[in-house]
Amino acid sequence: MNKKSIIALMMFMIIGIAVITVIAIPSFSNGKKAEAIISNEEVLASEVQAVEEDMGEEKESLKEAEKEEVIEVEEEIVKYKICIDPGHQLKGNSDHEPIGPGSDKTKPKVSSGTRGVATKIPEYQINLEVSLKLRDALIEKGYDVVLTRDKNEVDLSNRQRASIATESNSDIFLRIHADGAGKESVNGIHVLCPGETDKFTVDIYEESNILSRTILEKLVQSTGARNRGISYRDDISGFNWSTVPVALIEMGFMTNKREDKLLSTEEYQYKIVEGIVEGIDAYFTE
Ligand SMILES: [Zn+2]
Repeated sequence: MNKKSIIALMMFMIIGIAVITVIAIPSFSNGKKAEAIISNEEVLASEVQAVEEDMGEEKESLKEAEKEEVIEVEEEIVKYKICIDPGHQLKGNSDHEPIGPGSDKTKPKVSSGTRGVATKIPEYQINLEVSLKLRDALIEKGYDVVLTRDKNEVDLSNRQRASIATESNSDIFLRIHADGAGKESVNGIHVLCPGETDKFTVDIYEESNILSRTILEKLVQSTGARNRGISYRDDISGFNWSTVPVALIEMGFMTNKREDKLLSTEEYQYKIVEGIVEGIDAYFTE
């Protein structure tokens, strides 16, 4: 090889290297760029994922919060159960039963009640009419209601009625009655409550007393009737067999013409219901 061709070869190689360098280096650096873009995308992707995860966590924590709220609301809505006993029935039952657990003293299972001096309507009918209205009003207010009877054709002793209140796990036991007296002029509302010294009702006396007072107060307000106060009794089978606080409401005297007529009207029955419901509300909230 002569000197000329060596120079030519060297020149060719130099140009070749230069060409390769011009072509290869940019593509090499592009590769770096591409890698950088990919890694940028990865960063973005992981950022997006992180944000999504955050949102997911937020959603979860929102769900948890909602759950807690629901539980709180459920705890706030305590459904009280009221047992209503419409006094008497179509036919009284004169068979006897003990007046309390283990008692030697007995009384007729259920008496026949009084009757309207003007209307001739029997007490058990008025008691049922008011009790059914009371049931509807209480259910509307969110209470659970148990009735000892929803018709007149039953045979239920006072002991059995108290057992219904106890076995249904009712919070209170309300007995709905109307009264009768020898004197026509006697009128007004009174409530019967277990006596403080009654050995059968030691555990329920205090609550029964509060219940009786609260209902009587509201009932007198809603009806405008005379307040005859509370009668404490230790001889009432329907009290002595009860293990839940109990009150017996004497809505008025059917032996008084005016009250007898009032008791048979829808309007007055709703006034009575209003008073009892307000009394029950006050008993559970105060
Ligand atoms: Zn009665």
